[in-house]
Amino acid sequence: MSKIHKASCDCGAVSFEVELKDTAVTACHCASCQKISSSFFTCVHYNGEIDFKGADNIKIYDSSAWAQRGFCNQCGSNIYYKTKSAPQYSLAAGLFDDKASFDLKTQYFIDIKPNYIELTAKTDNMTRKECFDKWG
Ligand SMILES: [Zn+2]
Ligand SMILES: [Zn+2]
Repeated sequence: MSKIHKASCDCGAVSFEVELKDTAVTACHCASCQKISSSFFTCVHYNGEIDFKGADNIKIYDSSAWAQRGFCNQCGSNIYYKTKSAPQYSLAAGLFDDKASFDLKTQYFIDIKPNYIELTAKTDNMTRKECFDKWG
């Protein structure tokens, strides 16, 4: 069921609301997500423009030729991963106030997950090769 979900960074400088059709959470273990998070990046997917409050506080970083990451320039919270070609957001799951309906469904780059991280939820897992085959 669609519902408006409120989200904000740790310091509150950035906030937004989105209507999520799907509250499936993905955990990404790619090298970039390991660097930015020190563990793995969990996100919910949202396609469409987002009206960010405090958008001036979002520092946008080109993380690859095809994608950008946004983070709060005050507190450093990860806000999103986004493709450059379309407004397809992977929004940081931790920013959301109400995560009661969020369930971990998928893990990306499972084959490069560090051994010290083990998620117990039953998930669909994709290897590095499967991820690149899917997104090119
Ligand atoms: Zn912040
Ligand atoms: Zn990643």
